[in-house]
Amino acid sequence: METVHAATVTAVEQAGPRMVRIRLRLDEPGWSSTGRPDEFVHVEVGALTDDPDGHRSRHYTVSAVTADGFELEAFLHGDGPGATWARAAAPGARTRISDPKAYYGPPADSGVRVMAGDLTALPAIARALAEAGPDEEFRVIVEVPSLDDARDLPTAAVAQVDWVVGGNGIGASVLKDALSGLAATTDLLEPDARSYVWVACESVHSRRIRQLLRREFALPLTHYRIVGYWHADLDRAMRVWEAATEEQRAEYASLWREDRPDEENWLEIEPLLQRMGY
Ligand SMILES: Cc1cc2nc3c(=O)[nH]c(=O)nc-3n(C[C@H](O)[C@H](O)[C@H](O)COP(=O)(O)OP(=O)(O)OC[C@H]3O[C@@H](n4cnc5c(N)ncnc54)[C@H](O)[C@@H]3O)c2cc1C
Repeated sequence: METVHAATVTAVEQAGPRMVRIRLRLDEPGWSSTGRPDEFVHVEVGALTDDPDGHRSRHYTVSAVTADGFELEAFLHGDGPGATWARAAAPGARTRISDPKAYYGPPADSGVRVMAGDLTALPAIARALAEAGPDEEFRVIVEVPSLDDARDLPTAAVAQVDWVVGGNGIGASVLKDALSGLAATTDLLEPDARSYVWVACESVHSRRIRQLLRREFALPLTHYRIVGYWHADLDRAMRVWEAATEEQRAEYASLWREDRPDEENWLEIEPLLQRMGY
């Protein structure tokens, strides 16, 4: 974790049947929001092992910025350190968080925002809608374990939200099919539609969706951002990373460049991951 900021839990409430909303107050000034709706922080949750990205903390989206800190919403998926921390969170609990980073970045010439993801993506999607103006248009697909997880997503923008059931470590993911369905029934995923597409979900599924957007829909690299938010089999992901050679690790680091679109980096990272056996 880079810069760390001490924080205290000040409130906890249910955000849905399987999600808890946690409000954090920062002890000191110095943490500032990027202003982007999918910004996320590393939260120290008491994890004993690194995740494959090398963090002993877990990633959570800043679902709302408050006067003295921010809120996050955690999916209580099981007994991972993050979910366990969130389940036990109570006012007064202490943690440490990082500066925020973000991926969502529609280019100036982009039109409709197509946002899709599972419960872990819902905080970012809800924030994007909440902060959008009336001149923006959204088409949203949220994959939930059950329609009980659907909720109102207030927005001033023009928005259509579809809730689909699947994925989330509970059932087979239907997100890729839902995006194919969107492509079949609208022109939103045509290369010249200039939509901006943002997808966040399980890592293996995110890579399949990336291939769909790149190979079948031929979207411009600048007009989509696909993010793997979690690993269905974290142990396997860890084993692949631990077995990587020094050369592979160095190659991975060199491919991730800040001077080109993230999805251009992914063009070269995907074949490397496949060579690594992931
Ligand atoms: C940029 C970014 C933003 C994120 N924002 C959020 C957010 O706002 N809210 C949120 O809840 N999550 C969010 N996530 C996802 C969250 O970081 C992961 O789900 C994380 O793995 C949870 O940590 P853990 O310690 O509970 O489980 P881990 O120890 O990381 O994983 C252990 C096992 O738990 C299972 N598992 C992990 N995550 C999930 C899941 N989401 N669904 C089903 N099974 C799972 C898998 O079987 C995995 O092998 C975000 C991730 C990223 C990269």
